[in-house]
Amino acid sequence: MRLRRLIAAATLVAAAGGLAACSNQPSGASGDGKMRVVAAFYPLQYVAERIGGDRVQVTNLVAPGAEPHDLELQPGQAAQLAGADLVVYLHGFQAEVDAAIDEQHNDKAFDVATVEPLADPPAGVESETLKDPHVWLDPVRLATIADKLTDRMVQLDKGHEADFRSHAKALRSDLETLDREYAQGLATCQRHEIVTSHAAFAYLAQRYHLTQIPISGVSPEEEPTPQHLAQVAELAKEKGVTTIFFETLVSPKVAEALAKEVGAKAEVLDPIEGIEQGSTADYLSVMRDNLTKLKPALGCT
Ligand SMILES: [Zn+2]
Repeated sequence: MRLRRLIAAATLVAAAGGLAACSNQPSGASGDGKMRVVAAFYPLQYVAERIGGDRVQVTNLVAPGAEPHDLELQPGQAAQLAGADLVVYLHGFQAEVDAAIDEQHNDKAFDVATVEPLADPPAGVESETLKDPHVWLDPVRLATIADKLTDRMVQLDKGHEADFRSHAKALRSDLETLDREYAQGLATCQRHEIVTSHAAFAYLAQRYHLTQIPISGVSPEEEPTPQHLAQVAELAKEKGVTTIFFETLVSPKVAEALAKEVGAKAEVLDPIEGIEQGSTADYLSVMRDNLTKLKPALGCT
């Protein structure tokens, strides 16, 4: 019901926006000439900002420090979606965003899942209904997504094609450097199993030949059953796991209890679903932090 009201409000605002567009304002631009981009969560904001530079105004639907899986659109956010020049989202990740865009028949939306179709959840994960959305944790896939997003942004603002292309080239170069650091850093390790608090690292694991052992499913809200927890503990002991990874935006309680049970330490591995309030970190720095944690945990030389 709440979502319907939001969408009704959005439709009114969109209609008002339609009237404003009758002025001689170039289409696809706000009053200051910048492209107004709405990103559904942080990594998409990061990519849009890197490509657009000062030619775009990017708004993130998720508040800093909030967890994006269970995003509930706030009053005005559906209107923001309807009124944006470009919406960057990942169909299958945030149900309310998907529903709002579907109901608006929003043709400004760029769906990242059309570039990199979402994988089935990793084996052993309880939920069979959800696909795995955490595609941004593979820098190679994120580079492909960024290239396609650049094409879309160029279509919307041809006058700044050269800027967008050169920013995109720099971003691709950064992501390729990051990929090399991971490939080299994780090339020779004693162990390859990572126990994680939710099943966010399958794309990363696939790229760098690791095996993820998730405590809960692809959504952090899925509580593990006692049987599943016992299985994870047993597997972790069997594989000689030294570190149980938890994350910043979700309670570490279960991971800490498991670490105690296994005789391992608990350490943060960030799925980069958001950046905490006041942090100066960005996608690249958090990915590098994660690599710094993974190497000793896996005994890499
Ligand atoms: Zn997640």
